[in-house]
Amino acid sequence: MTILSEIFEHNRTFIERKEYEAFRTDQFPNKKLVVLTCMDTRLVELLPRAMGFRNGDVKLVKNAGAIVSHPFGSVMRSILLAIYMLHAEEVVVVGHTGCGMMGLSCDRVLDKARERGVSEDVMSTLRHSGIDLKKWFTGFETVEDGVRESVGVIRNHPLLPREVPVHGMLMDSESGGLKLIVEGYGKGR
Ligand SMILES: [Zn+2]
Repeated sequence: MTILSEIFEHNRTFIERKEYEAFRTDQFPNKKLVVLTCMDTRLVELLPRAMGFRNGDVKLVKNAGAIVSHPFGSVMRSILLAIYMLHAEEVVVVGHTGCGMMGLSCDRVLDKARERGVSEDVMSTLRHSGIDLKKWFTGFETVEDGVRESVGVIRNHPLLPREVPVHGMLMDSESGGLKLIVEGYGKGR
């Protein structure tokens, strides 16, 4: 059975049993919060449970490492839309222990790409087009650094309202325990 047929089989039962009724809500976050976190598999259910979030509570933005790579990329756009259009009032960045972006080296990623058939020509064309693959594929030294960096990019964004608090936390990927890294109250520009 492929993953697709598995999903569709489950989906039929889910609909038949009206299991969706327990998840009914709207697009506005009840807790008025937007959360940026990592795509790590360990956090899929652990993070919402450990932070007390249910369906409808928060806007959840995820990527590899909870990194804001570019101030005018899709992550920052999602955060700004959550604030301006969807009534979010605070932002929290949640990094986690054992994150794969910690110490990630660009060379290792590009070696894998070469092994999978991406040619040296393609790499060189990208480099010459001004795409900084090294920066793009490089993670952070420590997860705390990564969280502080993301909080900084969001906090200093010219389109972020001054009064919006931007917090940073570190989650233990085993226990779900949280450590506060940046408390954003009263730190508006
Ligand atoms: Zn991670």
